This record gives sequence, structure tokens and C-alpha cells, in this order.
Amino acid sequence: MIIAIDGPAAAGKGTLARRLAAHFGLNYLDTGALYRAVGLAVLRAGGDPADADAAEAAARALDPAGLGDPALRGEAAGAAASKVAVLPGVRAALLAFQRDYAARAPGAVLDGRDIGTVVCPEAEVKLFVTASLEKRAERRLKELLDKGVSVISEQVLRDMQERDARDSARSVAPLVPAADAVVLDTSALDADAAFAAAVNMISQRHSAG
Ligand code: C5P
Repeated sequence: MIIAIDGPAAAGKGTLARRLAAHFGLNYLDTGALYRAVGLAVLRAGGDPADADAAEAAARALDPAGLGDPALRGEAAGAAASKVAVLPGVRAALLAFQRDYAARAPGAVLDGRDIGTVVCPEAEVKLFVTASLEKRAERRLKELLDKGVSVISEQVLRDMQERDARDSARSVAPLVPAADAVVLDTSALDADAAFAAAVNMISQRHSAG
């Protein structure tokens, strides 16, 4: 089984995807980490993430062994990721890796922006996980403060708005729910309630055939 989970930043996709993978005994791939790794590699080389040649070269040279680097979780990597993600050459370079991963037994949960629309359009289950901008900014702020990062809420909200706009407006693989995706709004749900709702939806889809 392949479960595709898409949605905007800080909607709760990652936590949900990890729990679903454990629950159904599937592999898990955080595809955002691939784009973050490309963005960070360009920054570390002193380049500009918007430079197509530099970003494509970094995407082709990507070593999946480095995907656990904690620096990938930072805001700099997230912003760089959304810049390299608009480049068709970068997306093409990362596509084969994601499809190969999904095809491996026993199946996988992949989370990202274009899993249900581009990477795995054949996925048996597609969830579009979303929440209001304010709620997502509030969660991201708490996450950063818990990590000891000093930030102000207005800045987090602004950064998130910019990232949403870049992800939704780009011409290649924009953030849109697949026609056959089930939308899960987590604005009023905590992680446990979101997980329970998702398991419920998946079980219903399966019993419906
Ligand atoms: O999900 P995460 O915040 O880690 O993703 C970072 C950025 O990578 C996103 O803002 C988006 O621009 C890009 N991305 C993408 N397609 C994916 C996953 C992430 O374009 N499948």
C-alpha cells in the first residue's frame, strides 16, 4: 500500500505520516527533507538556492545518507527548500528517488506537496492535510520556542505566508489537493485526534475497495 500525504507547512503531516507508517507497517519518506537537503547544500557551498544550475547540480549529487542532519529542520533550510523546489530540473532529479522508494516492499507513506498529484498518482490512499494559516504559524512558533530559537510570532506568520504563496503559485507541481484526495483539516485537532481520523478514513476507503 502507498499512502500519499500532502499539505502546507506545519499542518501536522510529518507527525501523522510517521504514525501511519508505524501503524500500517510501512516505510516512511519525508520528501521535504530532500528539498531541504538540496537547499542547504547550495547554501553551504556559498551559492544562491534560486540559481538553477547550482541547485540542479546539488539535487543530482544528493546523498540520502545525509537526510538525518538536524540542520535540515531549521528555517534557513526550509526557506531555501521552497526556492529550489520551484526549479523543474531539481524536481525531475528528485522524482526517481521518490518513486523507487515508494515502489519498495512493503509499501510506504510519503509526505510532501505533490505526492498524490505527481510522485505517486496511483497511491491507494491520498490525504491532503491542512490547517488555518494562524494555527500553523502558532504550531511552528511553539516548535521553535521549544527548541530555544528566539523568534517573533509576526515573523513566523510572514515566513509561512511567503512559503505558502511560493508552494501554491509555482508552475511545476504546485501545492493542490489531488482530485481523489480526502481533505483532513487539523485546525481543531491534536495529533491523536488527527491520527484517529486518518486511520478511520483509510479503513473506510479500504473496506469500500
Ligand atoms: O515539508 P517541508 O516544510 O519540509 O518542505 C520544505 C519545502 O520543500 C516546501 O516548502 C516545498 O517548497 C518543498 N517541497 C516540495 N515538494 C515536496 C516536499 C517539499 O516542493 N514533495
